[in-house]
Amino acid sequence: MAIKVVKFGGSSLADAAQIQKTAAIIRADAQRRYVVPSAPGKRFSTDTKVTDMLYGCYALAEQGLAFKTQLDAIQARYDEIIAGLGLELSLADEFSVIAENFRARAGKDYAASRGEYLNGKVIAAYLGFAFVDAADVIFFRPDGTLDTEKTAAALHERLLELEYAVIPGFYGCGADGYVKTFSRGGSDVTGSIVADAVKAELYENWTDVSGFLVTDPRIVEDPVVIRTITYTELRELSYMGASVLHEAAIFPVRSAGIPINIRNTNAPDHPGTMIVPDSTDDELSVYTITGIAGKKDFTAINIHKDMMNSQIGFCRDVLGVLANRRIPIEHMPSSIDSMTVIVDSHYIRGMENEVRTDITKAVQPDSLDMEDGIALIAVVGRGMCRTRGVAARIFAALAHARINIRMINQGSSELNVIVAVKETDFEQAIRCIYDMFVKSVA
Ligand code: ASP
Repeated sequence: MAIKVVKFGGSSLADAAQIQKTAAIIRADAQRRYVVPSAPGKRFSTDTKVTDMLYGCYALAEQGLAFKTQLDAIQARYDEIIAGLGLELSLADEFSVIAENFRARAGKDYAASRGEYLNGKVIAAYLGFAFVDAADVIFFRPDGTLDTEKTAAALHERLLELEYAVIPGFYGCGADGYVKTFSRGGSDVTGSIVADAVKAELYENWTDVSGFLVTDPRIVEDPVVIRTITYTELRELSYMGASVLHEAAIFPVRSAGIPINIRNTNAPDHPGTMIVPDSTDDELSVYTITGIAGKKDFTAINIHKDMMNSQIGFCRDVLGVLANRRIPIEHMPSSIDSMTVIVDSHYIRGMENEVRTDITKAVQPDSLDMEDGIALIAVVGRGMCRTRGVAARIFAALAHARINIRMINQGSSELNVIVAVKETDFEQAIRCIYDMFVKSVA
């Protein structure tokens, strides 16, 4: 039987009613054999996630202050869930151990991981599934990175002897034997590692939205959901600021060729977004493009020098200055006698004069100016390479809205077109590109 690994985010597990929805989803498909839960998230917008409550509580313990009230409040959240599910389960002993370990300074990571650990216990009891402590099967190396081989072997051996199991997300065992977590949102990574280890057919990632949206809903009202996106397209959009999934969650399943399906616990009939290997033959989006994302706060360094094109090593010398100052570059459009380097303003801020002096010394330009307040917008889509006129439509949309394009870059993979505009034009630019490709079709 094919195997599906299902990961549920904190909002899908925030209270008993949400956990009941989750359980109904799991029980509806016998292939959903391995469940990776997050800690209980927010029940309402002003609520606090259990993970944040644990960090706060442990900070008190670390300073030698009383933390009982805070730990009791965390226990109350689980007790309410347990009562709501009608379970005969007490976490009293678990909480005594946690209090003791807090007093013994077991570490911030240990503290945070208890959110997933306890939720895993509750969910396993409710589903009647085995509980597998992630600290027994997920291992980190001394440098803090995941020990992939050891983890894959341990997970494989442990899980394949269990027909159904719950493995809490977010943590594993550090090289020192203490619990260690991934970075925030890391349950996504656990799900991906588990999916790879059991050679799952599908990794379902259940959250509170029906998949990736074509663009940011804070800019475009009610954008459509992306039905299918490749791993590479997703990387391009995430790099440019779109976020739903932890970045590190992509690699384990991507290399194993396992698709990820982003689904909504509150709308389980919605097919969500499928993230598929790059080699997919799946039909292309009806919109030609897959998504639009963008970021503000870039600086353009414009350098002009007559006959620059004949000065061998000119670009290398300019880039050398930036490399020495540890400033990563984003793009580098050029013409015969001038070049522009676009960098994230965050890296150059406060260092502008030094960079100017270094570049002047290195290449003696005729002029050099820096312009901040630049925004980059990426229009991404694997359909672009097969379709004529995509760039023309982007430019037409921007021209029609009277937005000046400061730079254009199309990667050789023809997977994305990047345009730079003034920050003040950013939102309007995204809206008009969206209208051109999506609204005109919808
Ligand atoms: N509970 C952890 C966090 O809040 C991990 C996760 O939810 O994925 O970051």
